Amino acid sequence: MALIVAKFGGTSVASPERIKNVAKRLVRIREDGNEVVAVVSAMGKTTDELLGLTNAITKNPPARELDRLLSTGEQVSMTLLAMALEELGHRAMSFTGRQAGIKTDAFHNKAKIAEVHNERIVEALDEGIIPVVAGFQGIDENGDITTLGRGGSDTTAVAIAWGIAADVCEIYSDVDGVYTTDPRIAPRAHKLAAVSYDDMLELSSAGSGVLQSRAVEFARTWGVVIHARSAFSDAEGTYIKEDPEMEKAVITGIAHDTSEVKVTIRAVPDSAGVAARVFSALAEAMVNLDMIIQNVGDGGVTDISFTCPGADLSRATAAMDAILPQIGARGYAVDEDIAKVSLVGTGMKSSPGVTAKMFSTLGDNKINILAISTSPIRLSVVVDAAQATAAVQCLHTAFGLDSDSVFKETQLSAEEIAAKMAKGR
Ligand code: ADP
Ligand code: ASP
Ligand code: MG
Repeated sequence: MALIVAKFGGTSVASPERIKNVAKRLVRIREDGNEVVAVVSAMGKTTDELLGLTNAITKNPPARELDRLLSTGEQVSMTLLAMALEELGHRAMSFTGRQAGIKTDAFHNKAKIAEVHNERIVEALDEGIIPVVAGFQGIDENGDITTLGRGGSDTTAVAIAWGIAADVCEIYSDVDGVYTTDPRIAPRAHKLAAVSYDDMLELSSAGSGVLQSRAVEFARTWGVVIHARSAFSDAEGTYIKEDPEMEKAVITGIAHDTSEVKVTIRAVPDSAGVAARVFSALAEAMVNLDMIIQNVGDGGVTDISFTCPGADLSRATAAMDAILPQIGARGYAVDEDIAKVSLVGTGMKSSPGVTAKMFSTLGDNKINILAISTSPIRLSVVVDAAQATAAVQCLHTAFGLDSDSVFKETQLSAEEIAAKMAKGR
């Protein structure tokens, strides 16, 4: 018998039919002799729709109100799933983030889990009830509802798995595991049997949307084993775990991220302390900088470029509007049509030549590199957004990751696939 946390993403609970299928799946897990706690995301595009409603009212929603609104999505799916389980003759009970004991800091929209108190979940399990927990939400010290960032139900699931000492945290989605890259971008991507926490964290942070990076971070810290698998098939998925025996591939996978923007500040006076003033102003405005490029100075001035999440752009421009006139820079230009493409692999550390091969492959395919950044196990380049798919595909082939078979869609409608592709996360 195993104790399992089973998390189902938005696509997996997108309709009453799919919710009923999830209920059947949970019953199967139970009938196989396991105990199970379900965690759910909001149905389909609910979160995006709630954000759309907000946008129609204000471009600057109060963070507290936004969290309260967004948390309602998961509260719909959790109750419907509990009802579907009862309909199949099993006792079930839904729990909001607060009821499940997910305590967070007060950073609305991006809250971090501070404490997990799963007593009610454990009590329910002891009584033979299937607990169904709303993902993505918690409660701060003031008793206000917080949310954990987009894709945050994954983090709820990992936190609960830790809180109840589950054997495994199963994350069910519309793909049957973690592939060498998004199989919708490169259909010759192949499924990985296992990925180390370090590689997975780097892939998620570099934009691979299959698992939220916070969830992987939490799992790594507390040693929670994740099994990423399909809600639509029984196929064995991908295990995320620490395993010293695991082969350290030079390149584990390729991620891409279209959610960042590039800003170039023109003609910044080339003297000590000036860059510090610009970046202090950006830090105060809570802009998360990713790459920074300072060009060669000319005539006492230089251009400085940086990339940051598109979501931070309005705060970045407000900060620059205030600081640039003070330091005498000429102005700035924003390029929103960029993509970051990253090669990830723990084995990269001990393999020279990866950079040269990446650059020559992109060059041979006429893909211009706009910026570069590296870590010991990641190599990222910024390219034109229009060339992102081509970049991922040619690198996937060049680094020998292509599989002989082609990825097949299982259950998704054309509309759902288009929405996934547009999401860019
Ligand atoms: P859910 O809504 O269930 O949380 P997500 O959309 O967050 O599901 O994650 C699944 C999606 O992640 C897949 O549909 C796939 O397009 C995308 N994806 C990105 N990178 C990868 C990867 N390396 N392996 C598998 N899927 C990936
Ligand atoms: N519903 C939230 C989102 O769309 C959280 C999640 O799905 O994990 O981001
Ligand atoms: Mg997700």
